[in-house]
Amino acid sequence: MLQEFGPIKLLEGQRNSHFPACRSLFIDDAEKVIIDPGADAETLRYVNNTNTISRVFNTHYHFDHIRGNGLFPQAHILMNEIEADCFQDRRNIPRRVGVQEVYGEKGIEEWLFYIQQKDPPQTPFSPSRNPLWFSASSRLGGTYKDGEVFTFGKVEMEVINSPGHSEGHCCLLFPKQRVVYTTDIDLTAWGPYYGGSDSDIDLFITSAHALCFLDVDYYITGHEVGVIAKSEFQRRVDEYLAIIDQRDVKILRALQEPLTIDDLTRLGITYGGSHYVANDPWVFMWEKMSLVQNLGRLLKRGAIGFLDGHFFAVNVD
Ligand SMILES: [Zn+2]
Repeated sequence: MLQEFGPIKLLEGQRNSHFPACRSLFIDDAEKVIIDPGADAETLRYVNNTNTISRVFNTHYHFDHIRGNGLFPQAHILMNEIEADCFQDRRNIPRRVGVQEVYGEKGIEEWLFYIQQKDPPQTPFSPSRNPLWFSASSRLGGTYKDGEVFTFGKVEMEVINSPGHSEGHCCLLFPKQRVVYTTDIDLTAWGPYYGGSDSDIDLFITSAHALCFLDVDYYITGHEVGVIAKSEFQRRVDEYLAIIDQRDVKILRALQEPLTIDDLTRLGITYGGSHYVANDPWVFMWEKMSLVQNLGRLLKRGAIGFLDGHFFAVNVD
């Protein structure tokens, strides 16, 4: 265990909680609770074997934050009320992720087929066919909503809906310990993710800024960065959000020549190059859905135009 805030204990995921793992919280209080079981499976198993975990909270429905739900068969699995539909009908997962928008109903059927296989062939850079999707989305024990407060003993937890990354994405505030779990507003060097059908780039920015005003001393991110003090979080949020503008600049450069969205997607501007988007259908999907968000903003600003299926830059610095 990396660090503790009283009964709130951090559990690390593999590779410094890099996607497709995440940092989990273990609330070791009168009631024992797990938040986002994306930490190392051995660690989660150990915690479950040595404690009676009654509830598992998922901050949102993405793979890395729900993957370990099946390790807690006795616990109630709780999802935010907006995304609870993912556990009522798991087809809502590919709908929200972007599979339907990019690959249609056929993509959803394929996803359902692969995640139910024992050892399905995997795609190289994403957990698109990981069977853990199936076990993780097989139960819903309850929902929670924005502003709701839970008391586990000494620990109180307040839900803060922070949409943009996904529609229902929630950060979790622990006022008594003066710390907040920011989950996927994570300050990673790669930058913000808004590559789903239910993502919204403007809401992401608003949600990230809103976290800066919380009455806390520390922030716990869901990936990599870890625990940082308030002043450090405030400074790094600006650098993190500036990555969105850097993506705009690259898009504008590419659009000196008119391109279709699929041409632009194949460049892999957000996901590190053409190799990744060419070899993993989900990376192609994330790239395309991220572009939809950046292009929407650039169109609104008049920085690009759209004609005959092609985007083109209007003003390039
Ligand atoms: Zn996420």
